[in-house]
Amino acid sequence: MTGIYVHIPFCVQKCLYCDFPSYGGISSYQEDYVAALCREIGASSYAGGEADTLYFGGGTPSLLTAEQVGRIMAAVRATFSLGADAEITLEANPDSMDKEYAKELAALGINRVSLGVQSFCDETLRFLRRIHTAEEAVRAVEDVYAAGIGNISVDLIYGLPGQSVAALRCDMETLLSLPITHSSLYSLIVEAHTPLERLVAAGKVTLPSVEEVEAAGTLIREAMAASGFVHYEISAYCRPGYASRHNIKYWTYEPYIGFGASAHSFDGKTRFTNESNIPVYIKQAGKTSVVTEREEIDTERGEEDYCFLALRMRDGIDGNRFRDLFGRTVEAAFGPVLPELRAKGFLEETARGYKLTKQGLLYGNYVFGRFLR
Ligand code: SF4
Repeated sequence: MTGIYVHIPFCVQKCLYCDFPSYGGISSYQEDYVAALCREIGASSYAGGEADTLYFGGGTPSLLTAEQVGRIMAAVRATFSLGADAEITLEANPDSMDKEYAKELAALGINRVSLGVQSFCDETLRFLRRIHTAEEAVRAVEDVYAAGIGNISVDLIYGLPGQSVAALRCDMETLLSLPITHSSLYSLIVEAHTPLERLVAAGKVTLPSVEEVEAAGTLIREAMAASGFVHYEISAYCRPGYASRHNIKYWTYEPYIGFGASAHSFDGKTRFTNESNIPVYIKQAGKTSVVTEREEIDTERGEEDYCFLALRMRDGIDGNRFRDLFGRTVEAAFGPVLPELRAKGFLEETARGYKLTKQGLLYGNYVFGRFLR
């Protein structure tokens, strides 16, 4: 079954590190954008298909009014067969979440909220150019929970410039004191063309060493495990049974359909990217195709993508699924790479295929790179 992604590109302002397709100061487009989204969804060539996940990502989807979220959900339900037990996630920022809004979302059928918190330290939040405080973040989680949405994820960033071990411990203690079911814990990445990249290049911001980031990662893994969370993907932890069903589709080579400006889709054979220019998207959506890039995935590329993504997950590569998808075994496809990575202690054989070892988790990018031919 497919997953549906809806991209909401609006933010109040850009954060220091962000390279997502999102923009501050364009809220005047919001209403026209929602209408365009509904048109694009209604005109989908996949209309009539079955979906079991719906994910509002961004950007900041919680900047939409509940009425706008409801209109988009109605368009999805009118076009697709969305299962009664579908996972329906909305990404939110603490500054645009309160009890009333959370109740409205719950009434619409949103059953999972993913809050972009990033840190529970006010000084760090200011540095990252986040517009909320730590107190607002805690309150947002409590408001969502009080509204009856029990499936709550919180995103945090670690490996931040100047972040002490004490500050990270404080972040983890606050995180684990909250009624959450899921957390994505990312180490800071300096993306190209971001203000953070310019500050680092100018020597105004000093990044932590590789050893410090590794130590932070170890602290996080131990804290999450001690609290009963399952480390099911490189950056993602969940209470048993609360893995993100939508994100798992990305990591296991399942199809998904993306709507909205810059959204991506994958039908199992071809990847599609939508128009990124918001006014152009608004003008064209539902009237003519908004797809601007189309990439056929040949078998070799598919094999690489599958392994690259599957190794992010705790269970790793599924040998049977690989053979079903590509018509040969993973051993036939990657020959000497597998024994080489096993000999280095980065990869281990499992009953169903291969997965990263603890050591391999630390050198994930190197291992993934070995699967690119
Ligand atoms: S709120 Fe999220 S999407 Fe928006 S600028 Fe910040 S990190 Fe990027």
